[in-house]
Amino acid sequence: MWKLKIVLPVLAALVIFLFAQVYLVRQVWMQKDEVFSLRYRSESKEAIEQMAVHDPYNGFKKAYWVIDDVSGLYLERSRNLANAPDSSIFAKNLRDSFTSILSEDQLLTEHLGKHFRKLGLESRIKSKIYVNYIDLIDVQEKINVFRASDEMLRKQSSQKSIPVYTFTSEGNNYKISFDYYIDVANKEAIMIKELSLTLIFSFISFVIIIVIFIGTLKNYMEEKRLSNLKTDFINNMTHELKTPLSTITVAAKTLRHKTVISSPEKIKDTSRMISKQSVQLNELINLILEISMWERTQFELDRKVTDMESVIREISDNFINGCGSKCRYTDNIDLKGVKAEIDLLYFTTMINNLLNNALKYSGKDPEVSLQAYPRNNYLVIKVKDNGVGISRSDQKNIFDKFYRVSTGNIHKAKGLGLGLYYVKKIAEEHGGFVDVSSKKGKGSVFIVNIPLNN
Ligand code: ADP
Repeated sequence: MWKLKIVLPVLAALVIFLFAQVYLVRQVWMQKDEVFSLRYRSESKEAIEQMAVHDPYNGFKKAYWVIDDVSGLYLERSRNLANAPDSSIFAKNLRDSFTSILSEDQLLTEHLGKHFRKLGLESRIKSKIYVNYIDLIDVQEKINVFRASDEMLRKQSSQKSIPVYTFTSEGNNYKISFDYYIDVANKEAIMIKELSLTLIFSFISFVIIIVIFIGTLKNYMEEKRLSNLKTDFINNMTHELKTPLSTITVAAKTLRHKTVISSPEKIKDTSRMISKQSVQLNELINLILEISMWERTQFELDRKVTDMESVIREISDNFINGCGSKCRYTDNIDLKGVKAEIDLLYFTTMINNLLNNALKYSGKDPEVSLQAYPRNNYLVIKVKDNGVGISRSDQKNIFDKFYRVSTGNIHKAKGLGLGLYYVKKIAEEHGGFVDVSSKKGKGSVFIVNIPLNN
């Protein structure tokens, strides 16, 4: 739940940031587009003005001549048409015919292309003609016979094309006004190239923000996880310390009881119980102190070359004695002449931790086995049980400090989550490693590998 509370605002912030980036890039794109059009338009205008010095028709001479010729024919047809319902169809035909003449029989586009090439601009351009109006005129009677007007033609100017110039021309039978537009080839590609730095910068900043967000989120979650682990640890530790303490308190009270004072046997029993609980308390406190020491000081083992068969045999025998009738225990120790350089105390505690866990996390009829043999220059010790098992996701964490597999709020088995952390640390300090293989409900096998002394 708390994860969702953190992730949602972060996701919302990322989406807002992404929208802001898209908006910014769009604005920059629109500005670039305007600047691009302005540049081509002003260069075109300059070229047109230069051309006008030696060509007053701006390259449209042939087109105007053809239009004049054709408009004579249209004039005859238009005399009966003025104001007739199909006059707008006639106007559109007139426009299409004049547009294609103006597009094809002209030299302006070629001239502009050359001009752009000289300036190092894109020279592949296409022209577009948009007619504003056409008048068909009877020169002798001095009357305007037909006007193909703006409204009739419903001019469709293109958004992508760049408006360059408005031309007007008058002949014997016509008058025309039209807009001259150009389309620059690869306009988008040119603009993307020009914008590449902005786009790259925007992309990089987005990636950086995402990385920072994810990093911060991960850190926060890790902090939260550790803080939860610590809280659990403190709760467990209080519980673990309280149990022997209250036993000792009760035992102390019992000692004052009349019936106990009079019976030396009962005094002995109670005092045995007190010392057993004190030893447990002492061991617990030592474990906590020792692990906290590892954090602050350099951890050093006192290693000696040791005959492993006798060491493991002793650990195994002690475990059988402790286990008693509570479990079925078997061992298979195949270590004749095998030697390893170990710190006896730490090594023994490490294997005992695994054996005790095997018993602690077993069901009703515990079956525990210990196997030890040499393999590939390693001493392999396998501790197997038929207990509750560990899920795959928990297997990744069980060797972490304070980690305990969650079983709701109440833990059936007591513990501080330090046993396996200890096992891993000691195995690694010996130059070895630990592995686990387990299935939920099907038992577990812990495998310790310690390098051999050859
Ligand atoms: P503790 O036993 O004090 O909780 P450990 O570090 O020894 O701490 O173990 C960490 C967790 O790993 C335990 O809480 C338990 O859930 C799981 N675990 C350890 N050994 C076994 C085992 N043999 N079978 C099942 N679960 C185990």
